[in-house]
Amino acid sequence: VPIATVNPATGKTEQTFDPHDDDEVEAKLARAAEAAVTYRRTTFADRARWAVTAAELLEGEIPTVARMMTTEMGKTFASAKGEAAKCAKGLRWFAEHAESFLADEPVESDAADSRVIWQPMGPVLAVMPWNFPLWQVMRFAAPALMAGNIGLLKHASNVPQTALFIEDLFLRAGFPSGAFQTLLIPASGVAGIIEDPRVRAVTLTGSEDAGRSVAETAGRAIKKTVLELGGSDPFVVLPSADLDDAVRVGVTARVQNNGQSCIAAKRFIAHRDCYDAFEEAFVKSMAALSVGDPLEPATEIGPLALASGRDEVAALVDDARDKGAHILCGGTPLEGPGYFYPPTVIAGITPDMRVATEEVFGPVALLHRADDAADALRLANDTGFGLGASVWTHDDGERRQFVEGLEVGMVFVNAMVASTAELPFGGTKRSGYGRELAALGIREFCEAKSVWVA
Ligand code: NAP
Repeated sequence: VPIATVNPATGKTEQTFDPHDDDEVEAKLARAAEAAVTYRRTTFADRARWAVTAAELLEGEIPTVARMMTTEMGKTFASAKGEAAKCAKGLRWFAEHAESFLADEPVESDAADSRVIWQPMGPVLAVMPWNFPLWQVMRFAAPALMAGNIGLLKHASNVPQTALFIEDLFLRAGFPSGAFQTLLIPASGVAGIIEDPRVRAVTLTGSEDAGRSVAETAGRAIKKTVLELGGSDPFVVLPSADLDDAVRVGVTARVQNNGQSCIAAKRFIAHRDCYDAFEEAFVKSMAALSVGDPLEPATEIGPLALASGRDEVAALVDDARDKGAHILCGGTPLEGPGYFYPPTVIAGITPDMRVATEEVFGPVALLHRADDAADALRLANDTGFGLGASVWTHDDGERRQFVEGLEVGMVFVNAMVASTAELPFGGTKRSGYGRELAALGIREFCEAKSVWVA
């Protein structure tokens, strides 16, 4: 994959970048190792000041940054502005809370003093995806920098401008040189960075294949990993739900970010007592969405980020159609330049279809009819993924049943799954392991040191 900005709305290559050569990568690793020695001794107050300055700079540049993201990966301009604002908020939140999350924890024992202290690990490599090109990086970088760690970013090859912008933002905000650097390297260069003794740990957000390969290399080098991989989140609608809300939020949950979110609702499971009403209203709302230029304010769905991604979505839908699924709306890529795929709803899914086991990374919803609540829970868990789940019910017993029984990292009741700095984010099963955000997230890349003073 070339390192380049290709506008997915037009298919035009706007800018290409030379990858960093071996000497440049070596210089960046050396600078990271050097910065790690002094940066870990900076105070929380210093780091917080720089993080808040980064938030202020970002807030002052939202339209420019948003346009850059829309041009690189096709998300609507409105959602890109929202993402930039969310990043500024995340920086402020970690600036405010890091010190208390990493405070010493005195422990009762026979010692005169015994406690757990949290210390930074040093340089951490972050391999990141293009779908939320700013937020995915920020939710790693904000806690990492606040903890005293050093960030090395290998971003997706199709968002190089955003990748370089982030490095520049942290420098302008006052973080010491080397505290956060962007490596313009292909995926094939990742293993060498992980193996380098100066790098202490690695976090990856992306596909299962990338996660497997990074974890293999890190395993051989005995280095800590956090993996945030794919999902096929269920969205369960039970008879006591407010159906209008469930339909409205369900559509957003599926098509947000042009359908390219790990925590998008992908499998809609409705109880048979409300299935028909849900299907009718949901298909009507999906079919009514406007697809087009992501810079136009009226556009609700822009292009998919990559031609290969659009082709993969089309192949998954075609496979389902060939095996007898009912396409209730959409189902054919749109003509013309750009990588557009229409909102699509599919019912009649059988286990032999690829969509039954694979993630569909585009605006395609799968509908399932459940016999009762227990059957809905069984269907929700009938997947190799385990990222998030959304459940719609006003019945207390059902709420407990699903909160307890869903095999996922995050359950949202009467709301869509979302990421927020206050709550840990991460998955179970093939969706990965480890957590980002909140206190758990900042501690993932800190060493817990036990101290005993006799
Ligand atoms: P991807 O192909 O795995 O790319 C993600 C990152 O990994 C990119 O920087 C990519 O670099 C790199 N990469 C790819 N193969 C690699 C390998 N073998 N070794 C090392 N690095 C490698 O993922 P994607 O298709 O762009 O992103 C979509 C996926 O990410 C979906 O499955 C989605 O669900 C998942 N995702 C998960 C979360 C979460 O928090 N759980 C959040 C967002 C997205 P290149 O671009 O240079 O190939």
